[in-house]
Amino acid sequence: MLNFTNEQIERYSRHIILKEVGGLGQTRLLESKVLLIGAGGLGSPIGVYLAAAGVGTLGIIDDDVVDLSNLQRQILHGTSDIGTLKTKSAEATIIEMNPDVKVIPHNERINSENAFSILEQYDLIVDGCDNFPTRYLINDACVMLGKPIVHGSIFQFEGQVTVLYPNKGPCYRCIFPEPPPQGLAPSCQEAGVFGVLPGIIGTIQAVEAIKILLDIGESLIGSLLLFNALTMDFKRMKLRQDENCAMCGEKPTITELIDYEEFCEVRW
Ligand code: ZN
Repeated sequence: MLNFTNEQIERYSRHIILKEVGGLGQTRLLESKVLLIGAGGLGSPIGVYLAAAGVGTLGIIDDDVVDLSNLQRQILHGTSDIGTLKTKSAEATIIEMNPDVKVIPHNERINSENAFSILEQYDLIVDGCDNFPTRYLINDACVMLGKPIVHGSIFQFEGQVTVLYPNKGPCYRCIFPEPPPQGLAPSCQEAGVFGVLPGIIGTIQAVEAIKILLDIGESLIGSLLLFNALTMDFKRMKLRQDENCAMCGEKPTITELIDYEEFCEVRW
């Protein structure tokens, strides 16, 4: 176990007195390395809560800059951050929340060339991305690397969360084998989002991430949690690993990473 400073004992006292966390669990969090895909709507609450909880290393991958229209929901950033890199703004917010956290900014888009070298540095990937090419790329790379993903996505008033854990449950392609064809994906103009929604979905992702790091409770492996903010319904769907999955099935047909073309930049 780490030798906590007096300040750390006080900072993490409400965790340390929980028997499910304790000093050992807190040490585990401080020694964990988590990668956030995206510092936007979902990445904001994920980053803030993982930092507050004392996850010791947080990588953040995002190549975007803060825009005024982001501030309706992206609570890692503020008005004075407009025009600055999201990774930089996120790092400042996270360090202010908890100086124990080491932030590793990756100011780039993930693609087939850099994916392995970035992902292999982390224990767990929390996916808050806003586009299909990235989602499929991360899924495929994580199946190949055997790394768990806490997946979240949102659309207008609805969101979903699941945990994709290689060898323990389905991968993203078991559920959705291929990206949707162009005509079926929501067009850029239609893609509004209710500002609080990513707060709820991202916070659930943070809960799942911390549970995996601590190995406590029951995770959403094999379950898709669906949330509707208008009706305030939570539904849970059972998911099964597909033995014919092109990625994680018995005879995988996808053996290298694919850079799908981005047909619409739905920016959350
Ligand atoms: Zn699969």
